Amino acid sequence: AKEQGRGRYAFFDPQINARNQRQMKIKTGLNQALERQELSLVYQPRVRPDSQRITGYEALLRWHSEELGAVSPTEFIPVAESTDALGLMTDWLLHQVAQDLSEEVLQGKQVSINLSPRQFQTGNWAETLKAIIEQYDLLPEQLCIEVTESALVEDFQTTVAQLEEVQALGVEVAIDDFGTGYSSLEYLKRLPIDYLKIDRSFVRDIETDADDRVIVETIIVLAHSLGLQVVAEGVETRAQADFLRERGCDELQGYLFSAPRPLSELGVQQVKI
Ligand code: C2E
Ligand code: CA
Ligand code: CA
Ligand code: CA
Repeated sequence: AKEQGRGRYAFFDPQINARNQRQMKIKTGLNQALERQELSLVYQPRVRPDSQRITGYEALLRWHSEELGAVSPTEFIPVAESTDALGLMTDWLLHQVAQDLSEEVLQGKQVSINLSPRQFQTGNWAETLKAIIEQYDLLPEQLCIEVTESALVEDFQTTVAQLEEVQALGVEVAIDDFGTGYSSLEYLKRLPIDYLKIDRSFVRDIETDADDRVIVETIIVLAHSLGLQVVAEGVETRAQADFLRERGCDELQGYLFSAPRPLSELGVQQVKI
């Protein structure tokens, strides 16, 4: 019966079968990615809209698999989350970022790293970050962690407790993809956070969608009234940047300024807006 089930599966839905096979390849590949040195980091700047000054960079993982070629983090992170791989990758990333922070191009800049919601259920981030800060002789404010709202939905108490400790260390905290998840004014007020990052989906249609304009304006006013800074992500056009600057958005990030690039290619380009 098992044999038959498998056969029917492949027969009726070759697409699902192909997808499962790719997932399996990703899963296996991720286990070897570190030792094969297939992972790398790219950095995307956050800029002040008025002065164009770069205040920091977001570190983003890249994986070039020998077998699969370049695999997007939107594809491999969810797979890594279900195994031990993400923990090892994040560890590698932290050491790499800490090392990169001694490079001249990152002097005086902050680097943000992404942590998945599930990573708050295990581990002690304050402890991990403190160890890195001591080992590499960093200032805590050189680091920022980005977490999505879903981390708070999954386990509010644990996540908040961890964020409090991280913030007490002096590392900054950003809520990523803000506006897409469950959010209430009530919890925002109580959260140990420094930045709200407005999700790209609201920024994208600013020019054409009056609702999105209102949402973006409201997020900025709300954040400021709570003493938080606002970063807009996915800024691709000058009109979007102008709107966000006029509304008082603190920092902008997106292809208009730069795509994420390897460390060796930072500090080259700058757009005037
Ligand atoms: P995210 O944290 O929301 O990161 C922003 C994503 O938007 C990045 O995609 C970035 O390349 C892309 N982006 C930046 N500017 C623009 C723009 O102007 N237009 C458009 N269309 N896209 C823009 P990327 O690098 O493919 O990463 C996708 C997601 O994968 C990230 O979304 C994050 O959730 C996850 N990710 C990446 N690196 C890590 C990591 O080290 N750890 C964890 N846990 N997740 C990661
Ligand atoms: Ca992010
Ligand atoms: Ca984001
Ligand atoms: Ca996003």
